Amino acid sequence: MQLVTDSGAILLGRNFEIDGYAKRPFRGVTHFHSDHIIDIGKSVRDGLFVIGTEITLEALEILGERIPKSKKLHLDYGVEVELLGERVRLKKADHIIGSAQFEIRSDDVSYAYTGDFKNPGKSTEILNPDVLVIDATYGSPSMRRYFRNEIELLLADYVRDKLIQGPVAIYAYHGKIQEVMLVLRKHGIDAPFIADGKVWEITKLAQSKGYDFGTVLSPRTKEGREVIRDNWYVVFKHYHEFKRRDGKYYHFALSGWQLKEPFREIDPKSMVVGYSSHADFEETLYYIDNSTTDHIVIDGYRSSYAVSLAAYIKRNSPNKKVYVSPKPVKDAIRSTEVDD
Ligand SMILES: [Zn+2]
Repeated sequence: MQLVTDSGAILLGRNFEIDGYAKRPFRGVTHFHSDHIIDIGKSVRDGLFVIGTEITLEALEILGERIPKSKKLHLDYGVEVELLGERVRLKKADHIIGSAQFEIRSDDVSYAYTGDFKNPGKSTEILNPDVLVIDATYGSPSMRRYFRNEIELLLADYVRDKLIQGPVAIYAYHGKIQEVMLVLRKHGIDAPFIADGKVWEITKLAQSKGYDFGTVLSPRTKEGREVIRDNWYVVFKHYHEFKRRDGKYYHFALSGWQLKEPFREIDPKSMVVGYSSHADFEETLYYIDNSTTDHIVIDGYRSSYAVSLAAYIKRNSPNKKVYVSPKPVKDAIRSTEVDD
């Protein structure tokens, strides 16, 4: 069952392309990370609608994608609409702000694509379509984060400690940054937050949709400059900025690829934290085991571990039919850097 194209589009029903381009009328966007907005300009040019949550579609504008208003179709979670005889509905995915899973009902067959997710069965609803396309970023049996339930608390404790000595910088991908802001507030970090550029704009967008991050200031304002002078704050930056870090802060880079232990100090003022927005191997299996779906399609475009996950499911759940799509050519190599 080849539902993922060689260029990364997930094909659901007759008319939907999700997270990639396939010259179909409707483009779905699960979330605004770069490996899920592939060729979106082509979809905008050729398609009728780009579909996603309001936050996702507005964040795309901040990230530089131009979508005419007439082609935007934003849906709230759970709301079903019919388009050219097929029904589409978004379900919440716990990954970044605005993330959604897509459900399509076409004739008598139902399809779903999870997009990126974590916490299945808790903050990510487990779907039960006839055919399920699932993400497998951490699809290898070795990729378990034994500390995943404690990491939020541990990170907050570390940040609190380091704030005593001076300002702290946190590096993560767009959307994940705002999730981390909420986590730190939940665990009692009350220092002001500083954000600039697109991080600032996406934070403002999320605030306008009801997210409460406490005090977040731009360094371009008088209040922001005062906070920076007082030397007690947490600044949030895009993950790619980590390599340009300086001695001014204590730096935490949040990475899903830090799997063996929760923290790794890489110099006296920098630490990599095993904090991910993705399911690990166990959580991915949990989704599959707890869905009634018999046909599982593993996204082999965005993961190098689709083949090993498929082999594991075949051994352990012989009743499920498993496919890797697109078809693996040889030992998969991770060609694109995915968000973590
Ligand atoms: Zn993502």
